[in-house]
Amino acid sequence: MFHWDRGIFLTAAGLAVDVTRRQKLGFMSHAHADHIATHELAYCTPATAALFRHRRGAHHRTREMPYRKPCELGPLRLTTYPAGHCLGSAMLLAEDDRQSLLYTGDFKLGPSATSEQAELPQADILVMESTFGRPKFRMPPREETIGQLIDLVRRILADEQTPVIHAYALGKAQEVTRLLSDAGIPVQQHPMTFAVSEVYRECGVDLGQVSKYDGHLLPGHAVITLPRGMKQFRLSGIDRPVSIAVTGWAVDSSTKYRQKVDHALPLSDHADFNELLETAERVGAKQIYCTHGPREFVEHLRAEGYNAFPVTGSYQTRMF
Ligand SMILES: [Zn+2]
Repeated sequence: MFHWDRGIFLTAAGLAVDVTRRQKLGFMSHAHADHIATHELAYCTPATAALFRHRRGAHHRTREMPYRKPCELGPLRLTTYPAGHCLGSAMLLAEDDRQSLLYTGDFKLGPSATSEQAELPQADILVMESTFGRPKFRMPPREETIGQLIDLVRRILADEQTPVIHAYALGKAQEVTRLLSDAGIPVQQHPMTFAVSEVYRECGVDLGQVSKYDGHLLPGHAVITLPRGMKQFRLSGIDRPVSIAVTGWAVDSSTKYRQKVDHALPLSDHADFNELLETAERVGAKQIYCTHGPREFVEHLRAEGYNAFPVTGSYQTRMF
């Protein structure tokens, strides 16, 4: 039902799925940079379309696919479902009269403050993202991590220091903003992050007490900036910063040293190991294809009795 050509294609519909080279027809599961391209016609949810236009320009053509509203493309019926990863993130269910395929894109099953919770339709074939496909990537309960984040930020502010949180400009930053704001802690965001938050607001997502950091630190505010890996992350005029990374990788205790931050907390927008196994079970597919993850996860699924295969960038063109 699909083939690989340096990316996934739904063969019968000629639809590229999260392929980052320009295509005639491309489905974009969400607006993170490693999932989008300026396709001749891009299929995506309305929120992903808004975020994509913000990132790549207003003139690009999109065909909007609201959640749970099927559309036809060639012989396929295509339906998006929430993926719980960031605003607009979608799974794609493709059906013909013989079989069905569910492509997860980046996803997370648990709740989120700023994106719709994931839904998992059943399918014959499951193509799943498996980033955290190792048993050591089991996240602690979300509420526990949120409690640690809020306590830590309050403690830093009480010490008259400035909490500076490093988070992706799309998704994680808005999630953390909303969580802090709900706890009564106002947030100033890096200008690039704030521009994305404006798109969230236009899409009807209220992030609470948030403003743009314009070089002047406001008292009692937490600051959210870009991940340290991005060169524009530094903000001038911040007194006594204490840095915090929020990332699923923080379940590994070496993360704070690798990311050169004072603290790292495991708030994830990807399914953890347990959620990946839960996904395999709930979708009930006859075949599972794993992307973006360790080979070890495929072996783990096979040991559990699943018919599982890796789909990796090392393939040339190949039919599945
Ligand atoms: Zn993503």
